[in-house]
Amino acid sequence: MALYHTHRPQQFSDLIGQDHIRTTLLNALTSGTVGHAYLFSGPPGLGKTTTARLLAKAVNCKEVVGSRYTGVGTKKDSDTSPNTKYLIPNTDSEPCNTCPTCIAITKGNALDVLEIDAASNRGIDEIRELREHIKFPPSVCAKKVIIIDEVHMLTKEAFNALLKTLEEPPMHCMFILATTEPHKVPATILSRVQQFNFIRATEAMLADHIMAIAKTEKKKIDADSAALLASLAEGSFRDAVMLFDQVSSGVQSVDSDRIRAVIGLSSITEIQRFFGALEKCNRTDALAVVDDFFESGGDPGVFIAQALGEARKRLRLVDTSHAVAWINGLIHSLGQLKSSPSPRLPLELFIAEQTATHQADDTPQIDTITPPAPETAHADHTVNTPRVVMKDPVDKKIPIAIQSTPTPQLSDESWHTLIRSLRDKNASLAALLEGSHIVSAIDGKATIAVSFAFHKNKIASKTNLPLVEAAITQIAGSPYIVECIIDPSYVKKRESQEYPDLVDEAVAIFEGA
Ligand SMILES: [Zn+2]
Repeated sequence: MALYHTHRPQQFSDLIGQDHIRTTLLNALTSGTVGHAYLFSGPPGLGKTTTARLLAKAVNCKEVVGSRYTGVGTKKDSDTSPNTKYLIPNTDSEPCNTCPTCIAITKGNALDVLEIDAASNRGIDEIRELREHIKFPPSVCAKKVIIIDEVHMLTKEAFNALLKTLEEPPMHCMFILATTEPHKVPATILSRVQQFNFIRATEAMLADHIMAIAKTEKKKIDADSAALLASLAEGSFRDAVMLFDQVSSGVQSVDSDRIRAVIGLSSITEIQRFFGALEKCNRTDALAVVDDFFESGGDPGVFIAQALGEARKRLRLVDTSHAVAWINGLIHSLGQLKSSPSPRLPLELFIAEQTATHQADDTPQIDTITPPAPETAHADHTVNTPRVVMKDPVDKKIPIAIQSTPTPQLSDESWHTLIRSLRDKNASLAALLEGSHIVSAIDGKATIAVSFAFHKNKIASKTNLPLVEAAITQIAGSPYIVECIIDPSYVKKRESQEYPDLVDEAVAIFEGA
């Protein structure tokens, strides 16, 4: 039997990641206030149907019902009457899983618990049949429980018929509707049910879950491999367990090599190499990663999904300009997969696009630099659309203005001379400029790039800007105006090489702000 079935939660305490739902349902069971209609909504694989079955068990379990209503339990010492029925507060409303009712429901053959898949029973006739069924009291259980899965698939007429039932439900009956698309459920139905929204599990929860299942199955899996599987499960317990089932089938031990071999994944190192190549505009290397992947029989959808996961992680870094472009590009490639004549083509196009933007020839193309859009106060260092940048702008000694104009040139070296000259006049301004990069200086206009809006505002302030302009004018020998833009991609690389600690500090400050 598949692991997903053998490890299906049999008690509310086994439900992971849905604490709000577990607590509310257990409280309702304990206080005897269970409703007559529920709607469980949320993405697939989070335990909606499982919870519906648990609830069906709990309202019918002989142990739960017995202790709550007949007073089986601890008597008060002062009470000597043997016949008193006690209403004992039930602190444990979990189904026992051992009484005949629990066993029948677990096996799916309890007559009074009816599961209907609305995807294949959508019509009015099915709901009419259902209404006939619930007229009669339960045969064995305390309550008839009707579970309707994918309820949003019902036709309009069927919904209307269902609504009538929900408006006046028989006392012996309880409805649990489940859906992945709650917005398709009519408002009239929603107003008659208690809705619980199931939430996606975190990767940490899923990894723990996989480790726990491995332990019960007496199989070995290391934490990194469990985390790798968890990252592929997209928040779904079902997918996490099914993936573990798939990779652990027939072996006693699972490691990342095994996972990659079975699922056809690229190694994390390869994915990182892929992005490293994109960052350096190394088209050949990026294509080589993809070629290796395809030659080992990999699936392009899997590669794109993995790359998306890695790009998403990079969104959290301070320089997001690349990550945003990568994510947009990868999502686009994923969309192209189905219609593409070759499975590799969308990825190859992606690589071509991503490296074309940056791949200038050895001469810096200063005049192709897009002027920055007017920035808003917050958008600066979080989302930057990629713009054309010079290849390796900071690594080479580049004369800044190399156009065929008589304008005097301003080199990196003279930029540093300028900063040194400012130190005596205004040390804090000089310090700010240390973290900047001169993008261009041409036709009386100089453009400086900085990483943060905060820096830009300081440099471009009424006091500082004239000082910078005067200094450039002095060095260049002709009048210059200065424009300051925010583009971390110019600065980050050099900073991270020269001042790693400062960069960390800056990240801490700006993320905390
Ligand atoms: Zn039971």
